[in-house]
Amino acid sequence: MFYDLHIHSGLSPCGDSAMTPNNIARMAVLKGLQLIAVTDHNSLKQQHVMAEVAHQYGLTYLYGVELQSQEEVHILGYFATEKSMEAMQKWIENHQIKVKNRPDFFGDQTLFDKDDQIIDDEPVALIFSLNASLESCIKAIHHKGGKAVLAHLYGRKYGLIQQLGFIPEGLPIDGVELCDPREVPFFKNEYPQYAHLPILCNSDAHQLGDIHEARFSLEAPILKMWGIR
Ligand SMILES: [Zn+2]
Ligand SMILES: [Zn+2]
Repeated sequence: MFYDLHIHSGLSPCGDSAMTPNNIARMAVLKGLQLIAVTDHNSLKQQHVMAEVAHQYGLTYLYGVELQSQEEVHILGYFATEKSMEAMQKWIENHQIKVKNRPDFFGDQTLFDKDDQIIDDEPVALIFSLNASLESCIKAIHHKGGKAVLAHLYGRKYGLIQQLGFIPEGLPIDGVELCDPREVPFFKNEYPQYAHLPILCNSDAHQLGDIHEARFSLEAPILKMWGIR
């Protein structure tokens, strides 16, 4: 299944305002994708609508989020069911630093309905780290029945290697995201204990044009393991 599992909607302060549910789904179809996840920063509030719209376009949808831990590390959480996704949102709300967003400074945080009409602006700034360690974030994702994937492991700000320099011993992750497929052999050599895990190559698109072409695919065993249908 051709996928892109790291896309930001207009809810993310850094996401382009054209990143509406229908635009994202339409572009994914144009690019030949079959499976997508929108992973906004520290919020799953766009997920219900995003899933509904993605299904309308015949796409398979995985609920997603990109958490920012206290260590300023980005971790992707994926959820196969609505119930687990909603439980994760509740956990986030209990671990958010409640600072009011300043759209002029941090960017807009727009929530859309299924017709791409603006229904609300998220008032809490999503740009700040959660009040939870990397390990607590992973634990919470697992507790809600989700999968935890280290985002843009190498070479990008907020990737674990940039922030900590290494993957801590025994970190219970379910996958890693690499920005460039050429990093795969290097990763497998450096971390043989994680070599069997799914390795994702996503776009981290903040603009429509950056959504991936149908280039990377996930095979049936991983789809099954992650509860994707
Ligand atoms: Zn990130
Ligand atoms: Zn991202």
